[in-house]
Amino acid sequence: MENLAPFYDNTITDRFFNIHAQQTHMSDKEKNQLLQVLTNSLDLQELGELVYTEVKARLNASFLNIVSPVGTFQFGEQDNQSVVRSFDLLSGRDGSIKIEYGFVRTLSLRENQLLKDINQCVKNPVRNALQFYQIQKLALKDGLTSLGNRRQFDETLEKATSKAHRDGDKVSLIMMDLDKFKQVNDQFGHHEGDKVLMSVAGAINQSLRNSDYAFRFGGDEFCCITTNTDETANNLIVERIQEAVANDSLLQKHGVSVSFGMAMLHAQDDETTLFDRADKALYQAKKSGRNCAKWAA
Ligand code: GH3
Ligand code: MG
Repeated sequence: MENLAPFYDNTITDRFFNIHAQQTHMSDKEKNQLLQVLTNSLDLQELGELVYTEVKARLNASFLNIVSPVGTFQFGEQDNQSVVRSFDLLSGRDGSIKIEYGFVRTLSLRENQLLKDINQCVKNPVRNALQFYQIQKLALKDGLTSLGNRRQFDETLEKATSKAHRDGDKVSLIMMDLDKFKQVNDQFGHHEGDKVLMSVAGAINQSLRNSDYAFRFGGDEFCCITTNTDETANNLIVERIQEAVANDSLLQKHGVSVSFGMAMLHAQDDETTLFDRADKALYQAKKSGRNCAKWAA
């Protein structure tokens, strides 16, 4: 009886023992071909599309979800009527990974077997692509503050400026540098300095909308890219950051203040000239006695 157990699955329509049910519905050659295609890509988006196309072509799937601790990646259209077949890829302390396949109707026993075959081929490539996705994300983060790093800043600014020139969006850059930060390191040590940098990152983060981006540019320099904001809105963001810095107990203890240089993208700007203008404005803020904000000319 034990041997017969896999023939019966009460979640599927054909609730009868089926002598063919254990026969795989994908030949080894087909599995190898599919595996070859899937292992060609480490890009999660591309891989998801490939898998979705495969299950759509073979089983008329309506959607595919890759659910992981780093996010849910959806392909196709999910609706409430969908019949979902879910497969765990991994479950552990760091969360679980599963693949959900959606269908417009319940699968037959044969179809279900075919899905299992496909999923068998999909498992490892999806796991690898997710790992690659995580590594890529980590490579764009500042290790100390978890804000975007210099590399992500460069990429984001480049994208934001070209989109702005194409679609007529507004883009602004706010550069920040802590005032006399070296003194904190010198008096209280590097570790305390690091805690200050983390608190500043928190203050910046809490002052931005979800659509704006914050980065640690390097050392004690931070910056924000804001989109579709005018001068008044950017001044407000700066005021919010100043307020958050003033209200943080650790930053209060060390009397931390910040200088700001701001620039709004002009028609003749590219990302380099926008950056240079904001940087010059920051220099002006330092020259004017620090703890203030200056707009670029
Ligand atoms: P200013 O008002 O002119 O900006 O004075 P400052 O003392 O802040 O001078 P500056 O911005 O040139 O100094 C940056 C300091 O930041 C120098 C370095 O010791 C410190 N620093 C850079 N990276 C780190 C880091 O990762 N952790 C810590 N704790 N300190 C850092
Ligand atoms: Mg400084």
